Amino acid sequence: MTLDLAAIRAQFPILAEKIHGKRLAYLDNAATTQKPESVLRALDGYYRHANSNVHRAVHELAARATTQYEAARDRIAAFLKVTREEIVFTRGTTEGINLVARSFLQPRLQPGDEVLVSGMEHHSNIVPWQLAGAKVVAARVTDEGELDLDDWRAKLGPRTRLVAIVQVSNSLGTVNPVAEMIREAHARGVPVLVDGAQAVAHEAQDLRALGADFYACSAHKAYGPTGFGVLFARREHLEAMPPWHGGGDMIRTVAFEASTWNEVPYKFEAGTPDIAGAIGLAAALDWIESVGLDAIHAHESAVLDYATPRLAEIPGLRLIGTARHKVGVLSFVMDGAHAHDLGSILDQQGVAVRTGHHCTMPLMERFGIPATARASLAVYNGTDDIDQLVVALHTARRLFA
Ligand code: PMP
Repeated sequence: MTLDLAAIRAQFPILAEKIHGKRLAYLDNAATTQKPESVLRALDGYYRHANSNVHRAVHELAARATTQYEAARDRIAAFLKVTREEIVFTRGTTEGINLVARSFLQPRLQPGDEVLVSGMEHHSNIVPWQLAGAKVVAARVTDEGELDLDDWRAKLGPRTRLVAIVQVSNSLGTVNPVAEMIREAHARGVPVLVDGAQAVAHEAQDLRALGADFYACSAHKAYGPTGFGVLFARREHLEAMPPWHGGGDMIRTVAFEASTWNEVPYKFEAGTPDIAGAIGLAAALDWIESVGLDAIHAHESAVLDYATPRLAEIPGLRLIGTARHKVGVLSFVMDGAHAHDLGSILDQQGVAVRTGHHCTMPLMERFGIPATARASLAVYNGTDDIDQLVVALHTARRLFA
C-alpha cells in the first residue's frame, strides 16, 4: 500500500511553517516527531472539558479525567500487546530506565556485577546503570554500525546481572536483533531491558511475543506529547520491586511508623501524573494505527532507499551507519565541515537536521568523530525532503570547499 503523503502532511499543521522563508524539510524526527491534529485536539479537549486530578475525587470532572487517563493505559497496553497492570507511566524512556536501575537492579547488585549493553547506546541506557553502582560492559560495534553479536555473546558472562539493549539506534538507525538476544540472555538466566525509544513509531511491537523483561519508550518520538512515556515490566518483576518515588497515589496506607504500597502499576506512580500526556499518547497510537505501521514502515524504508545513494554520492560526504537492517536515520560527516556549521547552513535552506553526538558519546568515540549531522525520517517525509537536503548539502559543500 502506498501512502497518501499529501493527506498525511495536511494533518501536521507545523509542516506548513516557513523557515527562513523556505519550505520546511523536517528531518529531525529521531529527536522528536511533530504532532498531528488529532493529538493536538485530544490535548486541547482534555484541558477544555475534563481537566481535574485523577483517582481522588467523586465529582464529574475527576471522573472524566480518571476515565480518560485509565482508558489511555488500556489503549497503550493493547498497542504493545501486554496487560494494563504491566504499563507504568513515566516521563519518558530515560525515567523508565532509571526506575529499573534503582528499583530492580540496585537491590540485586553485588560489587563487580555487570550490565551488558552495546557500543551504540544512548546515554540514558548507560548512566542509570552507573548510578546504580553496576559496571557497564559494552559489546563492540562494527564499522558498518552493526552490533558484533559474537563479542556480545563473549561478554554475556557470569557477572552479567542485566542485559540492556537499544532496539533501534538513534545515531545510526541500526535495528538490533533483540528477540534473538533476549532468547540467548534468558537461556543464561539474565533478564533483559529493551530501549524502544526509536522503535515504536517505525515497527509494530508485540512485547508478549518479544519476551523482554522491561521495555521503555517515549510518547514524543511517536507523534505524542513530550515529557510522557511508558515502562513495560513483566508483572512478576513489578510485584517484587520496591517503589522508588514516594508520595501521593503510590500508597495504600501511610502512618509515621511505616507505610504500605498501592497495587501495581500505581506503586511506581507517585504524585499527580501527566494526565494529558497519557491521553495524548493514546491519541497518537490511534493515529499511527489509522495509517498502519506496515504502511509507515514501507514508506519510510522507500524514502531511506531513495536517500542513501543520493547522500553517498556527494563528494566528501561519509555516511556513518550502513547496517543491513536499519530504519530511516542518515548520519553523516562532511570533509572540512564541522557538523554544527553544516547544520546551520542546512537550517538556512529550511532543512532541520540534528548535529552533535546525539547522546551517544561512546559511539562517536568508536568512529573517531566528535559529531555527525543526522537526518531522521518520519511518515510525513518524502523524496522532496531528501531532494531539498541534497541541494542544501551541495550548497554547503561549495561553501566549505
Ligand atoms: N534512548 C534512545 C535510543 C533515544 O533516542 C532517546 C531520545 N533521544 C532516549 C533513549 C531518551 O528518550 P527521552 O529523552 O524521551 O527520555
